[in-house]
Amino acid sequence: MRKFCVMGCIAAVLLAPGRVRAQQPAPLPALKQEAATEVDKLQTLTQQMVDEIFSFSELGFQEYETSRYVTGILEKNGFRVEHGVAGVPTAWVATHGNGKPVIAFITDIDCIPRASQKPGVAYHDPIVEGAPGHGEGHNSGMAVNVTAALVLKKLMEEHHIGGTIKLVPGVAEELLGTKAFYVRAGLFKDVDIVLGAHVESEFSTSYSTGNGEWSGLVSVQYFFHGKAAHAAAAPWEGRSALDAVELMDTGWDFRREHLRPAQRSHRVIINGGDQPNVVPSEAAVWYYFRELDYPHIKDLYELGNTMAESASKMTGTTVDHKLVGSAWPPFLNKVIAETQQKNIEAVGMPKWSEADQTLAKALQKEIGAKVEGLKEKIDPLAEPVKKPSGGGSDDIGDISWNVPMVYLMYPANIPNLPGHSWANGVAMATPIAHKGSTAGAKVQAMTALDFFLQPQLVQEAWDYFRNVQTKDVHYETFLSPDDKPAIEMNKEKMEKFGPLLKRYYYDPGHFKTYLEQLGIQYPTVRAKP
Ligand SMILES: [Zn+2]
Repeated sequence: MRKFCVMGCIAAVLLAPGRVRAQQPAPLPALKQEAATEVDKLQTLTQQMVDEIFSFSELGFQEYETSRYVTGILEKNGFRVEHGVAGVPTAWVATHGNGKPVIAFITDIDCIPRASQKPGVAYHDPIVEGAPGHGEGHNSGMAVNVTAALVLKKLMEEHHIGGTIKLVPGVAEELLGTKAFYVRAGLFKDVDIVLGAHVESEFSTSYSTGNGEWSGLVSVQYFFHGKAAHAAAAPWEGRSALDAVELMDTGWDFRREHLRPAQRSHRVIINGGDQPNVVPSEAAVWYYFRELDYPHIKDLYELGNTMAESASKMTGTTVDHKLVGSAWPPFLNKVIAETQQKNIEAVGMPKWSEADQTLAKALQKEIGAKVEGLKEKIDPLAEPVKKPSGGGSDDIGDISWNVPMVYLMYPANIPNLPGHSWANGVAMATPIAHKGSTAGAKVQAMTALDFFLQPQLVQEAWDYFRNVQTKDVHYETFLSPDDKPAIEMNKEKMEKFGPLLKRYYYDPGHFKTYLEQLGIQYPTVRAKP
């Protein structure tokens, strides 16, 4: 049972005889206005967080600098921080306040391999060639949530608002690597409402399955073990693990035709052997199996295991597998989305400058996308599509099936980009990302105030969660009891690129912006022929 102590407790204190007169909280609209004003006052800090995390460019599970930096800001501002939660060294939970309701903010912090890119430059121009970079824009999420949390803390103290704020990072989201483990570790068990935030080119929220372009998945690595031999002198003595990988992949591609159209499956060979004259004794392939719901994802996973077993039988090798990530398809809460939509409309789109639009259009032209610049308008809250088609995944799905949750899309990037590429990093340390993050922080703070001050809204969100969302569907984790977070992933890549990237870390003590530090003229576009 969830209990609340917001207005009720404050009233009790006020009425208690002989107590010092506490200040009555201002009415909700005035508080929201104050929140927006306070977020504006923090614009420099917001910009610095966007730029600093962009410059760290850390891959999933290796977000050490990012986590140190963000928790440092939160600790300095009086948040209690627990480090290394759920068995993940770069994960943490920061908390302020006491009692109910508990509102948790979550947003991702990891970046994309090979996406290094100079911000503000409308063509491919890496900061460090081949290095990771924020080619999805996850560098802006903490700027949104931390700014909102600092403002909320100030308002809660000044206006004696009860309740608890929590902040949690989405570690290794690109690997769908942690949130099922967060749920298993009980990180959200006392949480009433989760407000997620993700970078987008539009300002929007959604509920239920939204536009239907979400799948759930399991991410599985198959390790084949054969027998080494001289590939020319005695190949009959060997058993090739690489043959098994290739046969598994071929088998999967034949079977693909007979799977539901909603499935998406893809792979990379992570170990193809060492050199041609040695029969590969070890080889490995990594699959993502995506589908629309738990039973179908589970079926794909089992089919994958069957293919692997069969390939090992054909080749006289053995196989074992490791689950390295999983995600339920997200399902978002209608009550919170409707509340959030009003705040999105109240805040409105950022005011884009001519320079912002010039960068956006030049990049769209460069990559052959539709040239239409940055979005200026906010769409109304859309009805969820009846028949989801599937698409990408996000491990916030597991949280959304355990606590009422929404996912705010804030407008900090350029439309019509391919995703997971250098192009998606171009705007991410420019005024586009700075302004979009400020707008996002306002909505996060205002939506939290709605739930802190209206306990009945929290109840309504839970009613929807219990009576609509989970009426017939019950959460079951994809994790087996011995699955562990794959915290060693990306270690080698960051050991290689970390020292090179370090030379370009943003120094806000000497430079107003990262663009200024890199000496980039904003915007830099190709000269007209
Ligand atoms: Zn993302």
